[in-house]
Amino acid sequence: MPQDHRATFVASPVQSDIIPRVKPQQILWIGCSDSSYQETNVLDLPPDEMMVHRNIGNMIIDGDMSVETTVKHAVTNLKVNHIVVCGHYGCGIVRATTREGLQGPWLSKLDSLHSKHQHNIGDLPAPQRDRVFVELNVLDQLRALKRFPEIATAMKTQALKLHAFVFDRNTGEASRLIETY
Ligand SMILES: [Zn+2]
Repeated sequence: MPQDHRATFVASPVQSDIIPRVKPQQILWIGCSDSSYQETNVLDLPPDEMMVHRNIGNMIIDGDMSVETTVKHAVTNLKVNHIVVCGHYGCGIVRATTREGLQGPWLSKLDSLHSKHQHNIGDLPAPQRDRVFVELNVLDQLRALKRFPEIATAMKTQALKLHAFVFDRNTGEASRLIETY
């Protein structure tokens, strides 16, 4: 299977001790509304460590007051140590092959992401194309998070860490995506 689409990042398994237990609500988890799975279980963390936000496509959309307020509250008031954006394979929203039913900035953001990577993923079989697109979307949301001034500051002063995860319900495991450029 061609690996060109992963030329800029690698994926490795998420271990249960990836985030040491330090304090309650130390993690902001941004997941997808249609995942139909409690991916937080893969981290084996008690619920009191998690602040969970879900929306369609686990996306950070400019002007989305819900996600913006959640992120700012988590970083500024709760002083979370980690923000995880977790996509999932088989997502009904984040697909390379169709964006039927999506509207507004959610549609335009995914259209733009698809155009940007079409040259890399266009030749992949449809199921594989959708899987890679889920990965690319998660990494794109990490880039969006880094544009929050509060996050940029906290990454320097609070050692805030951002994580890109993708959950695979077929294996019950999550992979962590690490950009290599
Ligand atoms: Zn989804």
